[in-house]
Amino acid sequence: MPALNDVLSARLHSIPEASRRALVEAHVRHGTHIVVDGREYLHFSGNDYLGLIQHPKVLQAAQNALDTHGAGAGASRLVTGNHAHYGALETALADYLRLEAALVFSSGYAATLGTIAALMEEGDLILADKYAHACMIDGAQLSGAKLMRFAHNDMAHAESILAKHRSQFNNVLIVTEHIFSMDGDNAPLDALIDLKKRYRSWLMVDDAHGIGITYYLHKNDVDIWSGTLSKALASVGGYVAGSRTLMNYLIQSARSMIFSTALPPSAVAAAHAALEIMVAEPERGALALGHAKAFTEALGLPPAHSAIVPVIIGEDADAVAASAALKEQGFWVSAIRPPTVPKGTARLRVTFSAAHTREQVLALAEAVKPWVKS
Ligand SMILES: *Cc1c(COP(=O)(O)O)cnc(C)c1O
Repeated sequence: MPALNDVLSARLHSIPEASRRALVEAHVRHGTHIVVDGREYLHFSGNDYLGLIQHPKVLQAAQNALDTHGAGAGASRLVTGNHAHYGALETALADYLRLEAALVFSSGYAATLGTIAALMEEGDLILADKYAHACMIDGAQLSGAKLMRFAHNDMAHAESILAKHRSQFNNVLIVTEHIFSMDGDNAPLDALIDLKKRYRSWLMVDDAHGIGITYYLHKNDVDIWSGTLSKALASVGGYVAGSRTLMNYLIQSARSMIFSTALPPSAVAAAHAALEIMVAEPERGALALGHAKAFTEALGLPPAHSAIVPVIIGEDADAVAASAALKEQGFWVSAIRPPTVPKGTARLRVTFSAAHTREQVLALAEAVKPWVKS
């Protein structure tokens, strides 16, 4: 039998150099700046949309919980890790979303994956948008249900799959993102609700990039919402929100929650403080969205729908060169390449935060201009 490291080295060598991922040490400062290799950059690649990562009230809430409860939860939620910060946050989340209940997991990835795997089984169908996040695809694979994909936001394609296959399956779950993480566009939720009603299906929406930025009002027509505490909510963790019955069921069956240690009280308290600021100061989300719109307007790009703006470059090498040129000018903007995005659509992915100033946003637009196709 070959040695493990020889097998792994051969696999690593088969990944083209340009596609190989690497961990880069980065220090975030004041929310809007990062320091990499001793150099400071204006940061346009983070998910701290509301600028709350360094907010004094968020830090104080975390500090208070640290002082009271210590560094860790010490056990899974179902054993003795279910500290009081969980219930307080879940009530606040459910109230904000105007849903019956919410359940907090260790990450957004664990929340969505664990929920899909717990709900669906062999004989069921999961119908996912082509651009749906890995947590939905991985959850679908874990569940044992059949997975089919429809072209991104293409309702006619989704309907053609349901028309052809609905009758062959027991339960059907349609899964999508509210705001797509690599494109910043939104799913046609009204059309999806119509579709799920006509084809006796359930609908699950991952709101990781929507919460705090854009609000969808017909909450009850979506059977399951999921999201993260790590983006607008400035901490770590994830949630599922919907009916009380759904949460009761997940407590019995969501393995990614049952078999994993609870989040530190400080992390849950920080997310709760961030949620309170988000609710009290809706202008923060509006500011991040306004920055994105100012950026797309300055560059003649399609108007932004969220705090995420893709600048499509095309070839992988060109996107990498654009990102490197921006770094030279002091802007940190990630290049996103296949397989994360479709071939030929390598891009700069720009994200905006309430912590940015309009001057910073317009300076970035000026620097990106040479890379925008007219
Ligand atoms: C970030 C993200 C997640 C994962 O959330 P974490 O809390 O970081 O694990 C899930 N879904 C989507 C769409 C995301 O963008």
